[in-house]
Amino acid sequence: MGAIPQLDPPPPWAEARTERFRALIPIRIPDESTSAMTSESQIRAPSATPVDDAVLPFEVSALDIRGRLTKMGPALDEILTKHDYPAPVSKLLGEAIVLTTLLGSALKFDGRFILQTQTDGPVSMIIVDFQSPDRLRAYARYDAARLQAGQDSAALLGHGHLAMTIDQGPDMSRYQGLVKLEGGNLEDAAHEYFLRSEQIPTQVRLAVGEEFRGGDGPKHRWRGGGMLIQFLPKAPERARQADLHPGDAPEGTAAHTVEEDDAWTESRALFGTIEDVELIDPDLSGERLLFRLFHERGVRVYPVQPIHAQCSCSRDAVANMLKSFSAKDRADMVENGRVAVTCEFCSSTYEFTPEEAEAVPAAE
Ligand SMILES: [Zn+2]
Repeated sequence: MGAIPQLDPPPPWAEARTERFRALIPIRIPDESTSAMTSESQIRAPSATPVDDAVLPFEVSALDIRGRLTKMGPALDEILTKHDYPAPVSKLLGEAIVLTTLLGSALKFDGRFILQTQTDGPVSMIIVDFQSPDRLRAYARYDAARLQAGQDSAALLGHGHLAMTIDQGPDMSRYQGLVKLEGGNLEDAAHEYFLRSEQIPTQVRLAVGEEFRGGDGPKHRWRGGGMLIQFLPKAPERARQADLHPGDAPEGTAAHTVEEDDAWTESRALFGTIEDVELIDPDLSGERLLFRLFHERGVRVYPVQPIHAQCSCSRDAVANMLKSFSAKDRADMVENGRVAVTCEFCSSTYEFTPEEAEAVPAAE
């Protein structure tokens, strides 16, 4: 086994001020009403056909909410099964993957959305890399000695930070938003992010589970799902939220409160009834779930966006990475007459003879 490639430079944690966002990531569910289904004649019953590995954008205009629903099956199973992490670690990574699909698929440009955690818990790092429009890869780092029975995702994460980075290519600036992880799970972190940086009323639900089956075929597979809704009324004052608690206010200062808009109260109440099993169930279509939740108000769906588990590593890219090492470092990597490099995202191993490693051509 050779060196582990650093396929992505880690985010600049050292210079990051967690209290502040250096830039706001524009994670706002886009208005898709121009794209399709505007005519009354297209009102129809919800499709009963489940669509896995896809994000379903939707809108409940009577409540001024837009949202996205992710259902993940084979693609999630492929990523998690390949890594073969202990089940609680897989579940946590799966939650990060579902969250990434909800956020990354909302971006309307070619580029990458990278979600990364760095924390002091047993799972010290997670990276989920979403490349628009549909490619996904992910991995986690964990300390097996610190895993204990009964740890939930929040306990596995511990304290630290969650970073979300948007990379639109070499000629464009990178945007990064940071939010603290303070003993909560990824849903909590997402809520904190939207409260602090976007100030858009937002609700997020994530669910990942193992399905055990009898009969033919694989006996075990991972499934996941998630939903995100945002309150985006035309009159922005309707979306006002209470100020964050001022940590240094004198004792006895009344907390700032804002009366929540009725539409958002109703939306949150409906959203609060979603059960994990509804997000994971392979037989429940996304459209039927939306209909269950919002049928009294009417829900409009937009074309689904498929998601694929696909790594972007290649022999050429690894060869280029080797080129950046010194001759001595490359020599140190030789084991049993080979230089072997394993991709952390997909566990593919690339082998080179020492001569090949030395003869790696210089980049143009
Ligand atoms: Zn790879």
